[in-house]
Amino acid sequence: MAKMNWAAGTQCVAKGDHRKPKPGELAYHKGDILTIVDMNTRRGFYEARHNTTGEEGLISSTNVREREALRVDPSLSLMPWFHGKISGPEAVGKLQPAEDGLFLVRESIRHPGDYVLCISVSGDVIHYRVIFQDNKLTIDHTQYFYNLIDMIEFYSKNKGSIATTLVKPKQKQGTKSAELELSKTGWLLDITKLTLGENIGEGEFGAVYEGEYMGQRVAVKTIKCDVTAQAFLQETAVMTKLQHKNLVRLLGVILHKGLHIVTELMIKGNLVNFLRTRGRSVVSSVQLLRFALDVCEGMEYLESKKLVHRDLAARNILVSDDSVAKVSDFGLTKMDTKVSDNVKLPIKWTAPEALRKEKFSTKSDVWSYGVLLWEIFSYGRLPYPKMSLKEVKERVEGGYRMEAPEDCPPGVYSLMTMCWEQEPRKRPAFHKLREKLEREMGEHSSSPGSERRDGIRSGSGC
Ligand code: ADP
Repeated sequence: MAKMNWAAGTQCVAKGDHRKPKPGELAYHKGDILTIVDMNTRRGFYEARHNTTGEEGLISSTNVREREALRVDPSLSLMPWFHGKISGPEAVGKLQPAEDGLFLVRESIRHPGDYVLCISVSGDVIHYRVIFQDNKLTIDHTQYFYNLIDMIEFYSKNKGSIATTLVKPKQKQGTKSAELELSKTGWLLDITKLTLGENIGEGEFGAVYEGEYMGQRVAVKTIKCDVTAQAFLQETAVMTKLQHKNLVRLLGVILHKGLHIVTELMIKGNLVNFLRTRGRSVVSSVQLLRFALDVCEGMEYLESKKLVHRDLAARNILVSDDSVAKVSDFGLTKMDTKVSDNVKLPIKWTAPEALRKEKFSTKSDVWSYGVLLWEIFSYGRLPYPKMSLKEVKERVEGGYRMEAPEDCPPGVYSLMTMCWEQEPRKRPAFHKLREKLEREMGEHSSSPGSERRDGIRSGSGC
């Protein structure tokens, strides 16, 4: 039975084709993603927008299903055909019964660091050694690949110099194909519909490009390293669960030579650069408060989902065309509160207990939010100016706190100091912070002569 209470903004996947729409109805193909715009008076019908063509019209709820979130599942793999360190005979055993084109990849035991592509052909198994050379992979010294995903993709389409094209992956026991799951849930996008534009940013693990996906402007984060791509898959799975006006929205992913994460394009870039390049003559204090409130609402939503961000900072806040700030970079977002791996922590933004005991919580996010408020009201300055990381760690532990930025409203500075309570439970929750900010906003926006949503002061000549 189709659910009858979809709210506006719900993403749906078409269960079949609807090629010949009646007047007022929307045309779509199986697998197309549609956004619910409104309920319709006709029972079982909705007003919807086609995500790729942008057309609007009526759809019947029985022909679509809600796009599900991808389960965060460590067995989800971009390389389900990768079996790790197993011997040649073991690989042969796994490729039974013989079937032309059945394949797997293993790590070479005799040549650590190299891989072996094993393929079943005419009842035999052929082992191709994959050599790692100049940061690339190759079997025949003519075709080179960024990573194994890239290589498997190539030989699935081209025979090249090997005996057969790859037809069927032999999946490692206990893994699930990420591609299959993404496609079933409606999060796999079609690369042929993507046009890549200019490079707009460098992430730690890959470049970010501007692009267009069937008429919609998007940002594309490309991750070429297969191991990193696998880690980011979990980030993506978290993002499929989250929908809020102050969180950067995931449109879907593309699997091609690695992982491409496609999100809404945030034209005005990250908040640090936004504030630094415009400064106080252009951005009003009311606009600063709006940014603060936007982020707070996004964080309140994460708080309600019991998710901890762990890397909240102005560099991870992006600004949309209409100057709405949204939280991005869920890379470290986790349900649990302990990090076991030695991740590099952003010292100047991280709460003392998180630095000391790796105790992350919504309240450690609140600490970071205080630092973010300081960044906003200082127009993008680096926190703890002129202090080394070591000094920050020691002095903050000893009770030192930053002073208020120049011209910072006292009410906002007092919020910062609340966020920087040594004791995590004494810090306010995000919903409390939001209420306080709204009050602050009420006082400021009643003062005459300032703002528009784009934050440009009237009469500033910009
Ligand atoms: P990383 O987390 O690896 O550091 P980010 O996701 O923060 O990478 O991206 C790096 C930069 O790319 C950002 O600071 C921002 O300037 C730009 N960027 C990232 N995502 C978007 C987006 N959706 N819209 C516009 N610019 C973006």
